[in-house]
Amino acid sequence: NYSANLRRRLLGSSDVGKRGKFVSPLLKRECAEDDREVTRNRAKLLKSVEIEEQIDERLRNIDPKMVEMIQNEIMDKTPNITWDDIAGLEHAKKTIQEAVTWPMLRPDIFTGLRGPPKGLLLFGPPGTGKTLIGKCIASQSGATFFSISSSSLTSKWVGDGEKMVRALFAVARVNQPAVVFVDEIDSLLTQRTDGEFEGEFEDSMIIDWAEVQLYNRIIITLQNSVASYKDGISRPDGVKTAAEEEDRILIVGATNRPQEIDEAARRRFRKRLYIPLPEHNGRYGIVCNLLKKQKHSLSEEEIHEICKRTEGYSGSDMDGLCREAALGPIRAIEDIRSVSADDVRPMTFQVRASVSTNDLELYQTWNEKYGSLS
Ligand code: ADP
Repeated sequence: NYSANLRRRLLGSSDVGKRGKFVSPLLKRECAEDDREVTRNRAKLLKSVEIEEQIDERLRNIDPKMVEMIQNEIMDKTPNITWDDIAGLEHAKKTIQEAVTWPMLRPDIFTGLRGPPKGLLLFGPPGTGKTLIGKCIASQSGATFFSISSSSLTSKWVGDGEKMVRALFAVARVNQPAVVFVDEIDSLLTQRTDGEFEGEFEDSMIIDWAEVQLYNRIIITLQNSVASYKDGISRPDGVKTAAEEEDRILIVGATNRPQEIDEAARRRFRKRLYIPLPEHNGRYGIVCNLLKKQKHSLSEEEIHEICKRTEGYSGSDMDGLCREAALGPIRAIEDIRSVSADDVRPMTFQVRASVSTNDLELYQTWNEKYGSLS
């Protein structure tokens, strides 16, 4: 065992005796100083071994391959997002800062009545910044960010979804404070009776009973995880264990379909925030943020004009629009291999019809030849 060996080495072993009496090449005073340094280092190392053992303890019974996968693919130790990166959403940002980020930063002050909320639910159309907010909470409260989508638990992790949820929370506990972001949470927290499942799948026979039961178990595991960290009802007597009491894990659920979440699950997320489509000002903020990193010659008026014409666009749509526009100057270059970066012209404001005149002519010619007259 690695830590036992290391402990033996640190505490000293009989190896020294075998080599005979040790004579220090240093003067006595230096030697004493050196000894103290060695003792200090030993103590430090011993402590790290103890921490390592404690961590191992928390991850015992968890498949190491799963732990590794979670660490590589689901965990983001340093999400680097600030509140300024999120345009608009002033109400949501303010509420979250006060109710979530501050308690995560100062758990000593936010106790009792000021205790953190029982989970956070973000709902609204896709691409409006829910994931971004989850990352920002983690980033601003010095927490590790974990992100998982509910559909991957039932599709990618078929047969292992339940184990996966357990492993995820075990790794989160080791890396706390942690934010566990669960996307499409509606698909796990929907109250479906077995009867409904039967009705839904009877005709196609795609899903069998084992799968239905597995699905239900994943839901229960996730609900219990939400409950155990937030409500203290993981044990039948409703008492939190000392370890659970200290856990600083925030579960942020996101959904585009809040109406599908059942009441019991809804109550678990005491803070429920609407993340709407950005208004004109929100869209303006997003475009300005994106243009900051780009050479462009757009005037204030032109940016406002873009925002006027993009009513109903989500933040993600605005991001896509700007990325597409940034390719405009590149498309005008004749030979991309030889052009110098300084010669790429800045982004400009241009309104482009989605169908070129060339294409239109083709349709017209074809129509004249073969089109039906009536
Ligand atoms: P959701 O989780 O709501 O589906 P995301 O947070 O994944 O949406 O947003 C997708 C992308 O859209 C982000 O990476 C970002 O580029 C952009 N975006 C969305 N909303 C905003 C916003 N309010 N401010 C800045 N960028 C945004």
